[in-house]
Amino acid sequence: MLGKTIITRDEIERIVSRVAGEINRDLGEEPAVFIGVLKGCIFFFTDLVRQLKPSIEVDFIQVSSYGASTHSSGTVRLVKDITADVRDRHVFLVEDIVDTGTTLKDVANMIRARHPKSVRIVSLLSKPSRRKVEVDIAFLGAEIEDVFVVGYGLDCGEKFRNLDEIHEFLPDPE
Ligand code: 5GP
Repeated sequence: MLGKTIITRDEIERIVSRVAGEINRDLGEEPAVFIGVLKGCIFFFTDLVRQLKPSIEVDFIQVSSYGASTHSSGTVRLVKDITADVRDRHVFLVEDIVDTGTTLKDVANMIRARHPKSVRIVSLLSKPSRRKVEVDIAFLGAEIEDVFVVGYGLDCGEKFRNLDEIHEFLPDPE
C-alpha cells in the first residue's frame, strides 16, 4: 500500500539540479564514464546526465543479490555488464539508494578490478541508519529515515517504478 510522499516532484528536480551542479564543478577535462546501476537508477540517471557536460559517456550495469546463499567473493551476481573500457578513466557509479551498502561496495569493487583512474559514487538516496558496510558517497541527493520507498525508479516487486514522486511503501494490513 502506498504511504505518504517522502520526496515531491519539485524536490526531486531541485535535488537533481544541485547534484548535477556539484558534479559539473568537479568534472575535469578528462574523460568520465557514468555507469547507472540498473534498474532503480533509470529516471535519476537520465535526468542527471542530461544536465552534465556533453563530453561524458554513459553505460549500465545490473546485478542481483545472492540472497541467503552468499557467494564467498561478495553478495551480488553480475546480470548485465558494462560495455565501456574504463581503464584509466574516471568512473561515476550512479545508484538509486544506498541501504546496507553491500551492493554498491561489491559493484565498486567489480569496477575497480578493471583499473579505472577513479571511482566515485553518486546516489539519489541514502539510509545511513541501515549501513552495514562503509560506502563513501561522493554526491548524495538526500538522506532518508529507515522506511521502504518506491517511485521515481524504485520498485516493490517490480511495480511502482513509474511513479513521479517518491512514496513510503507500507505492507498491507493483515
Ligand atoms: P544495499 O545493498 O545497500 O543494502 O541495498 C541496495 C539496493 O536495495 C538498492 O539498490 C535497492 O534496489 C534496494 N533497496 C534498498 N532500500 C530500498 C527502498 O527503500 N526501496 C526500494 N524500492 N529498494 C530499496
